[in-house]
Amino acid sequence: MSLFADDEPVSTRSSSAFSPMERPAVTPAAVLELFNPANAPGGSLDEFLGLVLDRSAEWFEADGVSLFLQDERSPANYPLAAKAGLDDRIPDDAQVEQGVGIAGTCIAQKQPLLLQDPSTHPLLASKGVRRNRAVHSAMIVPLLTPENECVGVLNLSRTQKHNAFGPSDLAFASSVANQIALAVVNGRLVSRLRVAVMKTAELHLQLDTVIRTLSVGVLVLDAFGKVLHLNAEASKFFNGSIRVGDSTEQWAVSIDEPIGSRLAEVVRDALAGVKSDAVVVDSGQAWSFLASPLPGGGATLAIHDASEHERMHREINRVKRLAEIGQMTAAIAHEIRNPLTAMKAAAQVIRTAPEHAAEFGAIIEEEVDKLNALCSDFLEFARPLELHIAPFKISDLLKDLAEKHRPEFDAARVQLDVIDWSRSDLIYADRNRLEQVVRNLMLNALQATEPGGRVALFADDDRIVVQDTGTGMEQTTIEQLFTPFFTTKADGTGLGLSTARKIIDAHGGQIHVESQPGHGTRFTVELGRKAA
Ligand code: ADP
Ligand code: MG
Repeated sequence: MSLFADDEPVSTRSSSAFSPMERPAVTPAAVLELFNPANAPGGSLDEFLGLVLDRSAEWFEADGVSLFLQDERSPANYPLAAKAGLDDRIPDDAQVEQGVGIAGTCIAQKQPLLLQDPSTHPLLASKGVRRNRAVHSAMIVPLLTPENECVGVLNLSRTQKHNAFGPSDLAFASSVANQIALAVVNGRLVSRLRVAVMKTAELHLQLDTVIRTLSVGVLVLDAFGKVLHLNAEASKFFNGSIRVGDSTEQWAVSIDEPIGSRLAEVVRDALAGVKSDAVVVDSGQAWSFLASPLPGGGATLAIHDASEHERMHREINRVKRLAEIGQMTAAIAHEIRNPLTAMKAAAQVIRTAPEHAAEFGAIIEEEVDKLNALCSDFLEFARPLELHIAPFKISDLLKDLAEKHRPEFDAARVQLDVIDWSRSDLIYADRNRLEQVVRNLMLNALQATEPGGRVALFADDDRIVVQDTGTGMEQTTIEQLFTPFFTTKADGTGLGLSTARKIIDAHGGQIHVESQPGHGTRFTVELGRKAA
């Protein structure tokens, strides 16, 4: 039977030698004093155990004391944790195994044991203690927690110098053992907590380094908008005027408009639980703000210098506009050349055959009128749009349009359907302009549809859809649709869709198209915030 395994080295602590002459009375007050955490020396569990061992030896007039504690990683093993007096002979790497030997059995059964002749006992017989004939009485006491878990075992032994241990000694030893158990559990909890706190601090430090070195300004705000944390980049943005503890209200006054109020707005949204962002351009510099609510209340705010991004965005737009102007110029040149060619031919006729002057003079006048109309269209298109917003019902607009244009559809033998899902609520928009948009979409659809086909208008409170069963469009046509003066029709102006987009843009909405050659076309007008 093996009582002490040799394979697992454990750190043990030898108690200071104690003198059998000094034996203070064992009073409850002395026990309480020992287990008062405030009196624990140094705070380390090892030191505490050494002290417990010394005291136990005194209280129980024991000549040998040892303590085995459960290995947290291997709960069936109880390596030696502390030893004193006669028990100093126990090897440092000794351990008790649950259920094995006397001590192991005490652990398994959670019962203390009183031995009157330990030299005959296998526990003490195994490791040479037998030769110590002096030991004639021993107590083996499991350390039981309030949850009745056995976290260790306390061994106390007496030589013949003293009387043998009695049942009252055993009862008292049990209660002391349970106090030790509690202290051990607490001590282990505290050390685990200490490790967790250290790990948290380490993580915090890492996070702090990351945030500090970010090229984005970061602020953490509590639920009331007070700054809990800000990194160097954020501090730079506020010119050092914002500190930990400052409130959001103070910012608005310390930052120039329009940045201050936009910033206050996104922060207010985030503190109310809604993610919010904004890009503010001020004196050539663009700032992007992103505020996100934090799960337990409060928010984070990221501030980023978006100037470069904005500059590129503007550059792309400029290039796009230039391309549009290029296409538009080609279209206008084409429009101008036709009347000019006609005028030149008429002028030649007048020069060579003056008798036809009246007739060809009239043609020249007509062509000049066309050029004039073209100029008017162009000027009209270039003029900024002024909206007259007023409330009206989408259903009324659709009804009017269908009524006015049904004769044209009938004449072309194209079916016109109006499917109105709008609620009766009023929308706010420029009614005439919106009518102009939908009319153009309807007439384009009609012009693209063969007799026997169908055009349908759908509407709800947020969008109007015009769908046809007509010719559909190639991708190259779709790409140029909204370019001013782009037309595939002999008598088209090419201004319908570009004007429609201008109007919908001004309402803060969007217009988009889905189309396939031979499969018809669908235009969708999303009404923007101003119109909703
Ligand atoms: P216009 O009607 O004067 O040509 P628009 O700007 O209204 O000018 O339309 C531009 C071009 O888009 C049209 O010439 C036509 O090629 C194409 N288009 C517009 N709507 C449709 C449609 N529903 N089906 C097929 N093609 C269309
Ligand atoms: Mg048109």
